[in-house]
Amino acid sequence: MAGPCAIESEEQALTIARIVKRHGAQVFRGGAFKPRTSPYSFQGLGEDGLRILKKVREETGLLIVTEATDHTNIELVEEYADIIQVGARNMQNYSLLRRAGRSAKPILLKRGFAATIEELLMSAEYIMAEGNTRVILCERGIRTFADNTRNTLDLSAIPSIKEVSHLPVVVDPSHAAGRREYVIPLSRGAIAVGADGILVEVHHDPLHALSDGRQSLYAEQFATLMKEIKFLAR
Ligand code: PEP
Ligand code: MN
Repeated sequence: MAGPCAIESEEQALTIARIVKRHGAQVFRGGAFKPRTSPYSFQGLGEDGLRILKKVREETGLLIVTEATDHTNIELVEEYADIIQVGARNMQNYSLLRRAGRSAKPILLKRGFAATIEELLMSAEYIMAEGNTRVILCERGIRTFADNTRNTLDLSAIPSIKEVSHLPVVVDPSHAAGRREYVIPLSRGAIAVGADGILVEVHHDPLHALSDGRQSLYAEQFATLMKEIKFLAR
């Protein structure tokens, strides 16, 4: 699963989608509703962003994963998305989880940055208890004292989850690392410990990205990543 942090324009989304498709991505990611730490940062294009994602699906055939940030926009997101993302900041937003549990779409549930594995699994239960059993878990880094990265990627989460749950687990090395230089090695690690997939941020012009440019891979780096993990996954 690959794409920009946020949908910025139709041209930006289609450019990046063509790149990731060419190198073998199955799912295009991109936020239309963005849960930003600062209220003064770019908040996403909202429904306009969702319409752009629909065009991306029509043109490339890629599936779409995009975030619903609360119970008031999930209904709209659900119309456009193939997979609905529930972000780290919302892992314990129980009204959103319950609503996601009544959706017909699969849910990508990201681990909160201060959540234990047990808490992540219980959040998945909130979704499944409402009837939606199609949940994909996502390890995206947790907050520790380490300051060399944005978050600390907890690779031990993957075998731990696999021990007790049948749910698929994907790894997001981008939000863990915060720096694109670390995304390829962390992805290799994720595949090696048994992740079922990876979710990475890619941008054709990361220096001018409206969010998370520092951790977004250049097109050539995404090509390298795909070559390397295909080999490892086999
Ligand atoms: C994202 O996927 O762009 C995102 C905001 O991730 P997280 O919820 O893990 O911070
Ligand atoms: Mn992001």
